[in-house]
Amino acid sequence: MRRRLPAALMVVSLASLHAADERDTVLQGIESRRATYADIAKQIWTFAEVGYQEQKSSTLLQQQLRAAGFNVRAGVADIPTAFVATVGSGKPIVAIVGEFDALPGLSQEPVARRSPVVAEAAGHGCGHNLLGTGALAAAIAIKEWLAAGHPGTLRYYGTPAEEGGSGKVYMVRAGLFSDVDAVVTWHPADHNEASPSSSLANITGKFRFHGVAAHAAAAPDHGRSALDAVEAMDYMVNMMREHVPQETRIHYIITRGGAAPNVVPDFAEAYYYARQPDMRILDGIWDRIVDAAKGAALGTGTTMDFEITGAVWNVLPNKYLSSVMTKNLERIGGFGYTPEEVKFAEDIRKTLTETPTAAIGSQEKIQPSRVGAVGSASTDLADVSWNVPTVSVNAATFVPGVPAHSWQATACAGSTIGVKGMMVAAKAMALTTMDLFTDPSHIQKARAEFDRTRGPGFVYKTRLADRKPALDYRK
Ligand SMILES: [Zn+2]
Repeated sequence: MRRRLPAALMVVSLASLHAADERDTVLQGIESRRATYADIAKQIWTFAEVGYQEQKSSTLLQQQLRAAGFNVRAGVADIPTAFVATVGSGKPIVAIVGEFDALPGLSQEPVARRSPVVAEAAGHGCGHNLLGTGALAAAIAIKEWLAAGHPGTLRYYGTPAEEGGSGKVYMVRAGLFSDVDAVVTWHPADHNEASPSSSLANITGKFRFHGVAAHAAAAPDHGRSALDAVEAMDYMVNMMREHVPQETRIHYIITRGGAAPNVVPDFAEAYYYARQPDMRILDGIWDRIVDAAKGAALGTGTTMDFEITGAVWNVLPNKYLSSVMTKNLERIGGFGYTPEEVKFAEDIRKTLTETPTAAIGSQEKIQPSRVGAVGSASTDLADVSWNVPTVSVNAATFVPGVPAHSWQATACAGSTIGVKGMMVAAKAMALTTMDLFTDPSHIQKARAEFDRTRGPGFVYKTRLADRKPALDYRK
């Protein structure tokens, strides 16, 4: 005999059954276009355009979004390759963020030995060809789901020049994120993980010293050496290393040091990066670096001016959103390699300087979520994360052990392994975005944590102040 379910319970179970169906439909929608997304990712990988010069990559993504019914606003924040694509209406407003810039010098065929496509050209050594495309896949799937009768606004943010150009900082400054309730994104990696991890804040700038040229042997007393000033500055900063918190990183190069040894250099330039897990501490350290430059100018009888070229915060992680993402990532799971992919992975691992600790096969698993992790890189997503609750997921687009910003990473980003990782990320982002649209308590809890961790009275500011986007920083 069949037992009757109470009516209320029946409604609940039908509703959850319906939700489960919808989630499967969204995942199937993404999967059914795997070949299309693989092709788009490969095109952007081939374009390999560096920061602020991503015309073809940006245009291709915009075309896809327009064709899918998004309303695209291009050239936002005074950046020609930045855009915002929108569908739907009303609250909540959820943003999916995509990147698409390449790295100088990392051109590489998708093979397991060093072989540039074009010598000294740029390559996708950070997998941003996959990043922009995976975000596109998630956005289009959610757009179709919203169109079936769900309220809310979905945006895709096309964010240029992540690699040292601070593109998102200018987009934040232009107010483009001010009404957004939550940001969802991902990043290529050699493993699958959605931990609430942070990054290093980073300030970059060029210090320029102006002296007086003179014959270095016949009239040195008439000269004032700009190179002396650079060396004095570097010396002071190197002594300062002992008196800054342990985790601080300071690196510099001398970009101009004079033209000939027999001419006292009247111009010299040093290019500095300083990093720290906390922007509020880094801010004070940067002031001391500027003081060292001023002191160097004073002591050498030269003058100094400096230009801040980039500034990004440390990421403000959101544990709650990460827990939602982790649940979805676990549902999707990792992926296996074909025999050809295993061979590629084995060969490419032999080219690494360090023996990988993670085994081939670890990309089949999801890494457990860790709280309090701080990555040693920097990202402009950080400035978004202090303005809107933000969640990011990593997917194993790189063979386990392959570090980002390497030719090996470019090879993986142009391979079938890269596409497999991208699809995992697209699906995990899509499910997480659905969660944010269907259950308002997710955004409420994320917002409460965001307010708590930022602290009362927090005011976001950036060292970039009112400078124009450094559109020529890669030229
Ligand atoms: Zn990156």
